[in-house]
Amino acid sequence: MNNTAKSRPLILAVDDDLVSLQLAEDRLGDEGFEVIVAADGKTALSLFVQASVRGRPFDVVLLDVEMPGMDGYQVCQQIRGLNDGLFVSIIMISAREDIEAARRAYAVRATDFSSKPTNWLVLAERLRYVLRAASTFNELKRNQQRLADAQRTAKLDYWEFDPQAEQFYFVKPDGNLQTIEHSNLYSFKRLLHRLHPADRGAMETYYKKLTSQQEGMTASIEFRVLDIAGDAESFLTFHSEARRQEVDANSIKTLGRVYGVTQDITEIRDNEERIQRLAHYDELTGLHNRSSFQEKLNVTLELNKASQGKLALFLVDLDGFKRINESFGHSIGDALIQAFVQRSSSELRSSKIIDRDIGPSSMSRFGGDEFSLMINCDKNEPKLCASRVAELIKDSLARPFYIGPSNSGTGKNEIEIMISASIGIAIYPDDGESAELLLSNADTALHSAKQSGKNQHQFYNDAMSATGRARLDLETELRRAIDGGQLELYYQPQVLAASGKLVGVEALVRWNHPERGLVSPAEFIPLAEESGLILPMSDWIMNQACRQTKTWVDSGLEPFMVSINLSGMQFRQSDFKENVQKIIQASGVDPQLIGLELTESVVMGDAENTIATLLSLKELGVKLSIDDFGTGYSSLSYLQKFPLDTLKIDRSFIMDIGEDSDDSAITEAIIVMGHSLGLQIIAEGVETQVQLDFLRERSCEVIQGFFFSRPLPANEIPSFADKHRNGNSHP
Ligand code: C2E
Ligand code: CA
Ligand code: CA
Repeated sequence: MNNTAKSRPLILAVDDDLVSLQLAEDRLGDEGFEVIVAADGKTALSLFVQASVRGRPFDVVLLDVEMPGMDGYQVCQQIRGLNDGLFVSIIMISAREDIEAARRAYAVRATDFSSKPTNWLVLAERLRYVLRAASTFNELKRNQQRLADAQRTAKLDYWEFDPQAEQFYFVKPDGNLQTIEHSNLYSFKRLLHRLHPADRGAMETYYKKLTSQQEGMTASIEFRVLDIAGDAESFLTFHSEARRQEVDANSIKTLGRVYGVTQDITEIRDNEERIQRLAHYDELTGLHNRSSFQEKLNVTLELNKASQGKLALFLVDLDGFKRINESFGHSIGDALIQAFVQRSSSELRSSKIIDRDIGPSSMSRFGGDEFSLMINCDKNEPKLCASRVAELIKDSLARPFYIGPSNSGTGKNEIEIMISASIGIAIYPDDGESAELLLSNADTALHSAKQSGKNQHQFYNDAMSATGRARLDLETELRRAIDGGQLELYYQPQVLAASGKLVGVEALVRWNHPERGLVSPAEFIPLAEESGLILPMSDWIMNQACRQTKTWVDSGLEPFMVSINLSGMQFRQSDFKENVQKIIQASGVDPQLIGLELTESVVMGDAENTIATLLSLKELGVKLSIDDFGTGYSSLSYLQKFPLDTLKIDRSFIMDIGEDSDDSAITEAIIVMGHSLGLQIIAEGVETQVQLDFLRERSCEVIQGFFFSRPLPANEIPSFADKHRNGNSHP
């Protein structure tokens, strides 16, 4: 079949008179039609099916009525039952020109009727007309389909309201009025019953409008339909528009039905509400968020300006929260935040000290583990009133929280967590008149509270802001220090408890500040972690420590371990192991001499990932130790899962040996249990002979502390090693 043939209308001519068929082929062919012929009904049906299957159905069927066997009416009827048969144009042709024949033809759903003898020119015209009509019809059908699709997408429903019957007829998007199902019929009463109680009044007003005898009446309404269970929290939202159509029957205008559309706008309203919520509220706690708190603060300050009142602005930050997140994972962290908000706000509200202004509206989540609170306070004694509030918040944290994994809910597996808070306070108008300044000053006070040991509140004072600026300066300077060669590694010796022989050193970073002299890592490591500077800094440290180790070995010193402290952020880098490997290889050091120190908070959290990382590190040949043991939340049984070599008992336990029997007992227990797990024990911060003796008696292997040596510059290590070679030299 060629292309021109393809675009010609395809006609199936069916007639038992072969001459007629021949004529149809010739004449209609001349008029631009492609004609396929069939001499009987059966052949016609099979040709029709074949064409349909091939994907090019017939456009028109010319059907002779009088045929032996299956007559034209039967063929027509059967075609209508076939695929593509329902809408094909069928012209029936009969030798009998009587009304009865025509009626029968239309009864079997023929499109048109014509009589013999055939005037082929006229028939050709008729065919063209039928084809045009068919294409219009098909276009209409396509449009209807498109409209129905659009309605479905737009969630539109059409309905009619019959004021006489007082009933709504709902039309399905792809249906029409004749196919209304019973369930699409709603009486007003039934509709009202399904509505959200708050919308019923408005619906009744709307209904009155619909039934009013007013010409051209229009009305609209938004309403919520409850789900079948009638739960007021679960509903769909609709918008409805209605208009009364006038009916002009026999020139007498009467009021007709009301026509309306209803659109399901649930999603739109839900999204709007979500956006609104996100814009103003914190999802986790339901408290106001930072920006909405600031707005509210602005308004409140205006009011205070007018009334000359005083206001206390609090910034509350949970101490060590990062560590809790790292140790237990974010879901526990989140649950703790929720528990904190619930407890502190309810205790503030029920307190007798302040009986107003404490509510979700005056408290906000500023982000992470930071909260803000504003309270109008006594004009004469604003600080007294504010201190009480601060004490109350701290007191609310005196009892532990019991947090369970989010899905357990059994009370089993609950973790007991103690947490404290640091609080910074600024008073309006004493510490600032604008929201901005107050917030910044409260923040400075908060930092100062953190700096002075946490778990306390501080009021802003002018001296603090100088400290705050200094902090920022420090960060800028730290950035430069890394590239500018101001960092230096010191090494603290670790010796055998039994003999005093040097077996290792711990690398400890120092910052030689051009003006301030040596800055303690306790000061700048947290700063480096906050700012992310810890990553380049840690790379530098590891590089430096590995090179130094290699230099010592090459210079002929008896080899000893060099331990490097890891930061959590460093450990969580996805390419951490590759990075360590690269650095070790570049330095040429024997990996057996390198130890990595991890704190408990670094290894807790995602145990599976941690174990995988630790195993890959062990493959490199390095040793792993757990640092500051006893200060975190891990238990020895938890640590058992990790491939560790050494356990370092935290200085805080060693410090009180001999004075505090509890700490002595804990130290003893850690040693025994550590040994049972096959770990080597290092005691940190040993300063006295008493401590040393105690540890020695309990078979703690290695001692680190000022009793033997402070951290030393690299060039002092060889002479220390020399003195402690055979372990005979005691301080
Ligand atoms: P740490 O890892 O627990 O290091 C031991 C700290 O205890 C060192 O403080 C050390 O000087 C001190 N120390 C050792 N023996 C005694 C003693 O007998 N008495 C007393 N009072 N202190 C003793 P330093 O060097 O100030 O380091 C403090 C912390 O800074 C380290 O605690 C570690 O967490 C961090 N840090 C130091 N260097 C690095 C580093 O290179 N990388 C990382 N990520 N952190 C480091
Ligand atoms: Ca350490
Ligand atoms: Ca330590």
